[in-house]
Amino acid sequence: MKTGLIEVIYGPMFSGKTSELIRQIEMAMISKSEIIAFKPKIDGRYKKYKICTNNGRSLRSVVVKNSLEIIEVIKKTKKPITKIFIDEVQFFDKKIVDVVTFLSKDKGIGVTVAGLAQDFRGEPFGQMPNLLGMAQKVQSLTAICVYEKENGTLCQRPACFTQRLINGKAASYDSPIILVDGANSYTARCEKHWEVPNRPETKL
Ligand SMILES: [Zn+2]
Repeated sequence: MKTGLIEVIYGPMFSGKTSELIRQIEMAMISKSEIIAFKPKIDGRYKKYKICTNNGRSLRSVVVKNSLEIIEVIKKTKKPITKIFIDEVQFFDKKIVDVVTFLSKDKGIGVTVAGLAQDFRGEPFGQMPNLLGMAQKVQSLTAICVYEKENGTLCQRPACFTQRLINGKAASYDSPIILVDGANSYTARCEKHWEVPNRPETKL
């Protein structure tokens, strides 16, 4: 049995992760690979059954409630699947690691996932650390810092962080991690302008 390659695309919000995923899906379709794209049910943004980018592009996908449902969908598919794609993978439960391992090593299916490696606090998000450790290929994307300086211009430095804003102000460390209610609550920031008020000091 050949092994399917695992690829992880990660970066902060607005770094083009979903655009890159869609590009890869289109390439796979050109090469006539049998593919399925998945996304978790928690992502309530935009159209329900489509993988959508922040700039309006979209492709059909299967919405699943949990990671094991990915296996069920693949088993029910008549055509032999050669590659799968998963968007917003950070929202999946712990079993996603076993699901990806099973598909790659036991079924020889290529798996490309895209997601946030860190939450708005800058801490590891869901199973992303494990998925990054399993991957043969990793693509790290950056966004553009849109912090508005005093002279009214934008910072424009490469942004590696997701800034959460509540009523336009930096969200406190203890505010809930998952809150998907549109792009307005989040923005991309560089290390100079990313803020997490009330972050407890690291004690060593
Ligand atoms: Zn900046």
